[in-house]
Amino acid sequence: SESPDFQPRYHCMGLAHVALFGLSCFLPACPPALGGLKKTALPGSTASSNGAEALSLKARTLAGMASKTTNTNVPKRIAHAPTLATLKRPVIPTEFGAKVPTNIRQRYLNLFIDECLKSCTSQQEAFDKALAEEKVVYDRSTSRNIYLNVAVNTLKKLRSALPSPANRKLVSHEAMLGGKLAAKTSFTLNRSAAAQLRAEDLKGASLYRRLKEYVLTEEDLKEHGYPLPCPETSGRAVVFNAEEKKTTDGSCRVCCRCGTEYMVTPSGNCVRKEECVHHWGKLRKQRVPGGWETHYNCCSGAVGSPGCQVAKQHVHDGRKESLEGFVKTFEKMPSADGNPGIYALDCEMCYTKQGLELTRVTVINSELKVVYDTFVKPDHKVVDYNTRFSGVTEADLENASITLRDVQAVLLSMFSSDTILIGHSLESDLFALKLIHGTVVDTAIVFPHRLGLPYKRALRTLMADYLKRIIQDSVEGHDSSEDARACMELMIWKIKEDAKVKR
Ligand SMILES: [Zn+2]
Ligand SMILES: [Zn+2]
Repeated sequence: SESPDFQPRYHCMGLAHVALFGLSCFLPACPPALGGLKKTALPGSTASSNGAEALSLKARTLAGMASKTTNTNVPKRIAHAPTLATLKRPVIPTEFGAKVPTNIRQRYLNLFIDECLKSCTSQQEAFDKALAEEKVVYDRSTSRNIYLNVAVNTLKKLRSALPSPANRKLVSHEAMLGGKLAAKTSFTLNRSAAAQLRAEDLKGASLYRRLKEYVLTEEDLKEHGYPLPCPETSGRAVVFNAEEKKTTDGSCRVCCRCGTEYMVTPSGNCVRKEECVHHWGKLRKQRVPGGWETHYNCCSGAVGSPGCQVAKQHVHDGRKESLEGFVKTFEKMPSADGNPGIYALDCEMCYTKQGLELTRVTVINSELKVVYDTFVKPDHKVVDYNTRFSGVTEADLENASITLRDVQAVLLSMFSSDTILIGHSLESDLFALKLIHGTVVDTAIVFPHRLGLPYKRALRTLMADYLKRIIQDSVEGHDSSEDARACMELMIWKIKEDAKVKR
């Protein structure tokens, strides 16, 4: 049976050992927990009113649009869309005892098809090309791991073969914020395509009503440490249930990877040059003869054993210490179709001098289509790209110009306070986005761990259990669009299952 999964909060960053607050009774060597409230603002953070902030940003971002219009791939998608529903995608036949599981092959075949559709003139040509590419990968691979490596390289090759920089499937910031017409058009197409696949009650207002049953209450939001609006100060968040911070001195931090205390200058630079030796894996508890044993899944090292990974410097999370600069979703007029929107969201983060900061955000709609996906330039100097967990590399951020403020403006225009946002431990993403939102479905809460909090089940475990699918096995690291899609699919599965029981 499944072993308890220690990842109470930072599911996508492998920082579970940070978040073991409350578990120290049976995990004596775990590093000190971080977090807690701090009343002082960080340098550079602002606290203006939501409305003024968003408006000025919108103006600024729109002004920058004209020069960046080549970034969008929306017209291309529209051009291809009418043919999308005509042909059925090829399927890899199941083969028992195969060297690579069929679902993995199918996943890469689908990814290849997605890329080929962008460059081929017909759907059939794209399918044929993708099938041929997948066959080469399969024939060359003697094991699952080799297959994954080769497949990822093929995917990169297919992506880079495209002439446009928009080939990374990123829906551009400008298209989302400025290109209202473009966004609307692709929306309509997405919906008509999905109508053939899904029952009426799993879309639009009907899906919204069903999902409402899983939305967290105010109490849930508090209990699970979601950012809530500070009643006194606009632009400021409060968090309940945050563990007290161990150190009060602002120049002393505790590394969230190895637990070492280290000193920083007022600007966040490390005072001493010191490597960070840590375990990047998560703690797993396993039943052994005579009891339980806890070890890291990176190297099977015991709790308290020397780390298996050396990084240049110590890092800290810090998101719950900088509670300024938050924006809150607006109340908007109810939409005519009775659906204020349903989206799944996932973020990637890296370590900067100030702590964890946003590097990528992905938003998926209820038809599993990416509606917004962008790399984000952190506000402070990056000290560790966290690529192992985020999949985001230094090269990805090299030309990124979108800032957290820009992302907030887009999200505020896309969501209203009634929009249902779905995510796995979504509070973590909302802290990275500095976004306050109260209409939330959290798959880590809808699918609880059998041992209760603070245990949470990993998204990939949920997918494997309920949807019989394997995710997050890419050598490129974790992919935010895959995770966002997984959350949406899990909820749709859950609604179908619960409907069976009710009937
Ligand atoms: Zn290790
Ligand atoms: Zn460290």
